[in-house]
Amino acid sequence: MKRQVSLAEISDGRLYGENDMVRADCQGCKGCFQCCTGMGTSVILDPYDVFRLKQGLGEDLAQLLAKGQAQLNVVDGIILPNLSMAGPGERCAFLTGEGRCGIHGSRPGICRLFPLGRYYENGDFRYFLQTGECREKNRLKVKVGKWLDTPDTERYHGFVCSWHFFLNGLEEQVKGAEDSEPAKRLNLLLLQNFFLTPYDGERDFYQQYQERTERWEHQWEQKNG
Ligand code: SF4
Ligand code: SF4
Repeated sequence: MKRQVSLAEISDGRLYGENDMVRADCQGCKGCFQCCTGMGTSVILDPYDVFRLKQGLGEDLAQLLAKGQAQLNVVDGIILPNLSMAGPGERCAFLTGEGRCGIHGSRPGICRLFPLGRYYENGDFRYFLQTGECREKNRLKVKVGKWLDTPDTERYHGFVCSWHFFLNGLEEQVKGAEDSEPAKRLNLLLLQNFFLTPYDGERDFYQQYQERTERWEHQWEQKNG
């Protein structure tokens, strides 16, 4: 989800790459679980998150949706999945009774990133430190790439860029006609191709993403040809 605020308002004014050090390490959160509650629909999943959840839990998005752990919502005209926040305190579906993340190794990119955010420009992105979001004030310095807790940082960076600008293009396509039949078709195809068709947790994610991107181009061309 895009936020219409200036970087100066919400960050320390710096942009970071994966090799930079940033004061983001909240030292295990020390019992705090503030950013795992009350987040509404903002813990949005991308295809890599769905793949990681498959690897970690052995479950596809359809199963998470059926169990109410994930849900679908419209973001800028595009239907995307997000983790559910429910019940008293609006707790993440994966927050344990002890206030810990129950899927730490498979948690979505938004959770791995926090309190960093991404700033996109000129076909690329860098990270920024959100200064008002994390309750822990004595955060330690950590290398951005390490903080992301994601193997193969370079390929991950490429995927994040690709996915972001791909969604941007789709948002432009449906803008002003969100309820139209073509927009509905586009959303259905997107969901099916990138989210609901099960990922193989044993295979390379980026190869699967590439295959789905090619399939998308083929299918979308056919539907609009
Ligand atoms: S607000 Fe900071 S310390 Fe609290 S759970 Fe979130 S990241 Fe951890
Ligand atoms: S997946 Fe884990 S880290 Fe992310 S909001 Fe849920 S409990 Fe918190």
